[in-house]
Amino acid sequence: MGCIFCQIAAGETPAEILHKDKSVIAIRDISPQAPVHVLVMPVAHIDSLASLGDGEVDLVGHVFEVVNEIARREGIVATGYRVAVNSGQEGGQVVGHLHFHLLGGRQLSGQLG
Ligand code: 5GP
Ligand code: ZN
Repeated sequence: MGCIFCQIAAGETPAEILHKDKSVIAIRDISPQAPVHVLVMPVAHIDSLASLGDGEVDLVGHVFEVVNEIARREGIVATGYRVAVNSGQEGGQVVGHLHFHLLGGRQLSGQLG
């Protein structure tokens, strides 16, 4: 209810969808921080990394398969890319639906935070 990423997954709010299957969806970030900035996430609503349940290891594994598939498609495998997850307020999480940022296409800072 009121979750922007659930609304996108349900087709109720538009987004550039790069991948969608039963369990994982990938969309282009609306405010990209790099030439490639894609959000890969479970279709099902999970609040954050911290609330990932037992038995969701396969789901996370599939998220990373999709990350790699999109990195290949976007042509950033050779140059390199970063996957980041923000969890909770001090982690910088703004949208409360677990998502993995795929960033690439420019030299990323060596610093985190
Ligand atoms: P967080 O800070 O929660 O890890 O990241 C949330 C990300 O979602 C931000 O990079 C932000 O630009 C992106 N975002 C927020 N609202 C929307 C939206 O409606 N559509 C898309 N495609 N991205 C969004
Ligand atoms: Zn949601």
